[in-house]
Amino acid sequence: MLSACGELVLFLNCCGRDVIGVFRRRVVEWFRVCGDRELPWRVRSDGWAVLIAGVLLKRTTVKQVLKVYEEFLKRFPTPSALARASEDEVWLLLKPLGLRHRARQLIELARALVERFGGAIPCSFEELKSLPGVGSYTASEVMLRVCREPAPLLDTNTVRVVRRVFGIEPSRSNSYEDSTLLGLAKELTPKDPSEAEELAYGVMDLARKVCKARSPLCLECPVKDICKWFSTQKAQY
Ligand code: SF4
Repeated sequence: MLSACGELVLFLNCCGRDVIGVFRRRVVEWFRVCGDRELPWRVRSDGWAVLIAGVLLKRTTVKQVLKVYEEFLKRFPTPSALARASEDEVWLLLKPLGLRHRARQLIELARALVERFGGAIPCSFEELKSLPGVGSYTASEVMLRVCREPAPLLDTNTVRVVRRVFGIEPSRSNSYEDSTLLGLAKELTPKDPSEAEELAYGVMDLARKVCKARSPLCLECPVKDICKWFSTQKAQY
C-alpha cells in the first residue's frame, strides 16, 4: 500500500515536458503533500520573525531551532527589545543550539537595525546582507517572504538538488557568485511571490528528506525522470 507521498510521486513521474516547468510544478505539488508547511517560521511572515529564523537556522537543525524559536520571539518580539538585552540573558535562551557567539551576533543585529533603520527591516538585498549574521540566503529569504520580491534561495542543500537535476558541475565559488547556477536558479524562480515561496521551501524540504547528500532516495523522488544525476545512476537502483 503506497502512502499519500508515494502515490503522488508515481503520478508526478508519468508526464514531463519542458524541464523547468515540470521541475517547478512537481516540486510544488510534492511540497503541498510532503513538505513541512507548518514550521512556525514558515507560517509567520513578519520581517523580524523571518530574519531571526534565518540566523538561528545557520549551522543548526530544524529540531534544535524548534526548541527555542517561539520562546525567543515571545521574549524579544522586536529589534529594540533584543537590542537592550544582555548577552547572558540571550545565551540562556539559546543554550539548546550550543552556539554562544550566536547570542552576541543576534544582539549586534538588533542594535544595527535600531541604529541604522529605526528598528524596521529594510527591503534591500544589499542592506540586509550588510547586517551582522545575515548572509545571502537569509537576505534573499527576507526579500521573498517579507518584501514579496521573488529571489532564489541557495544554500548547500538546495544547490545540491539543482546541480543534480540539471547536471551542473560543482564549482568552487560561492553559489551566489556562480553565474551558471545563479542564472538557472533565477530562471527557475516563479514571478509570483507565493509560488516562488512554495518552490523555494519545496526544494529545501526535498533536499532534506529525499535528495540527501549521501544516499539520496531517488526512487521516492518526484523529479527522478528529469534528473540528470539519476539517469547516470539508474543501473544501481
Ligand atoms: S532523482 Fe535522486 S539525485 Fe535526482 S533530485 Fe531526486 S533524489 Fe536527488
